[in-house]
Amino acid sequence: MQYHTRYCTHCAAPLAPIVQMEDGGPKERLRCPDCGWTHWNNPTPVLAAIVEVDGKVLLARNAAWPGKMYALITGFMEAGESPEQGIVREVKEETNLDVHACTLVGAYEFLRMNQIIIAYHVQARGEVRLSAELVDYRLYDLPDLRCWPAGTGYALADWLRTRGHEPVFFTAEENAERRRGLE
Ligand SMILES: [Zn+2]
Repeated sequence: MQYHTRYCTHCAAPLAPIVQMEDGGPKERLRCPDCGWTHWNNPTPVLAAIVEVDGKVLLARNAAWPGKMYALITGFMEAGESPEQGIVREVKEETNLDVHACTLVGAYEFLRMNQIIIAYHVQARGEVRLSAELVDYRLYDLPDLRCWPAGTGYALADWLRTRGHEPVFFTAEENAERRRGLE
């Protein structure tokens, strides 16, 4: 669910589109006519992990997703933690696996959700126990992985190239089938 900010977070007055001079020139944003608060609407950082366990990659299915949709482990950063600490925590919370190595893959846009995805490759070990958020997981050999044309799928593709595998993307039909039933 996406929420839209309509009221000032300081004084609760309704926000209005107001033009103000900024570093880049005059700019219209939602601002508070009473106290001057600006709704910057900056993208939210989201962490994603390509989880490698015993040479295979774990993809998981969210409880809210259709049956064929498996993807990276993701989660929001918490205040007070580094991105690395955040992804180690998310992997533990969602899979029970312990991360013992963590490497940045890259940063990716997710414009539709106004998010920035910070993707890591992590090596992990332990016994998989999924959180209530996830209903299933699969372990893939690298040549069997298919990438999807969205932020985390591009991260997976970039990482596969670093491992000497030219990434294969789902065809448009396959991706539509994979996403069928998704809100
Ligand atoms: Zn205000």
